[in-house]
Amino acid sequence: MVRNIFKIVVLIAIGILLGSDKSYIAQMKNMRGIKLYFDHLPESFQQDEFRELIKRIIFFEFNAVFTPAYEGANAYYQSELLENTGLDLQKFKHELLKEEIEFGIICPVFHDPHAFREIPYIQPVDQFGSKEQNTWQKFVCPSNEEYRNYKINIIVEAIEKLTPDYVCLDFIRFPIHWEMVSKNEYQNVIRNFCFCKNCIKNFIQYSKIDTGDNQNITELISTDYKELFAEWKTFQITSFVSNLKNRIRTSENKIKIIVQTIPWLPKEFNGAIKNIAGQDVKALSEIADFISPMIYSDLLKRDLSFRKSLLDDFNKSKINNILPSFDLLENRFNNVEEIKDFIHREFSDNYILFHFGRLVITK
Ligand SMILES: [Zn+2]
Repeated sequence: MVRNIFKIVVLIAIGILLGSDKSYIAQMKNMRGIKLYFDHLPESFQQDEFRELIKRIIFFEFNAVFTPAYEGANAYYQSELLENTGLDLQKFKHELLKEEIEFGIICPVFHDPHAFREIPYIQPVDQFGSKEQNTWQKFVCPSNEEYRNYKINIIVEAIEKLTPDYVCLDFIRFPIHWEMVSKNEYQNVIRNFCFCKNCIKNFIQYSKIDTGDNQNITELISTDYKELFAEWKTFQITSFVSNLKNRIRTSENKIKIIVQTIPWLPKEFNGAIKNIAGQDVKALSEIADFISPMIYSDLLKRDLSFRKSLLDDFNKSKINNILPSFDLLENRFNNVEEIKDFIHREFSDNYILFHFGRLVITK
């Protein structure tokens, strides 16, 4: 009893010292999360009520699992809005709950290969007038009202059907395939989106700028109104999160919102996290419960100082509700014990690891 009271006093003191409710929650939680993508796992993991999979999750001592609720037009739950696949996340969640493992859904927001293919007018346009997107990432225009409502309705449905503990917003940005941008390869010109008709109209309304009889509005915005345009872009992203929050947060629903951000320092690449991606991390951190920077140092071939400089910057900016996501190298381990030791050694605080497929020994 005395010990428990002592524990509570210490925890409250930590909360006060950290000066934020949110960081207090983060400290309490001690999350050991894992992202899990069923399409990267052997089919057998879906069989027998996910028994083998749950056994492995328990072995690694993860206490939260994050998995996509849908991809494009395909839902991984019984949906009325999307195509149903064979995967039954309701059942999976139920099995996790029995083991007291928390469940989070990953919801891609502005990456949607299906909508990109089917609705040409929501394909975003860069500063050179190009709509081309050469990688597997297919972004749509973040300012399209119709698409924004459609996506919010899907996320709301997924939450109603799956009652997750967390909703993790992925691809919540203007188009940028950040994984492909390395320090050395970076040139002054990263493609800047979006200058589609709708965005230009929307921006002019927002900024009330006078374009006069200028024939090249894209150029005018890119040169004379760069900062204002970046502000408008961040507003598109931030307002999506606050609109969603207004829809899903009720007195009964305590679901927590996680926003995935790209792992760039504020000044890196000429401030591209705001100017290009449209992510105002400080503003997002005030709406979301957690900000989850994707600190994938292995993928980006950057050393541990990269991880440290990012986390230090959050500290300096007094952004306390950080739940970082780290990546695991593929096929680096010989057996599961080795992996478990590595995770325990490497990651001591709250984290979400990317991803479970990398923990399956294939050699
Ligand atoms: Zn647009």
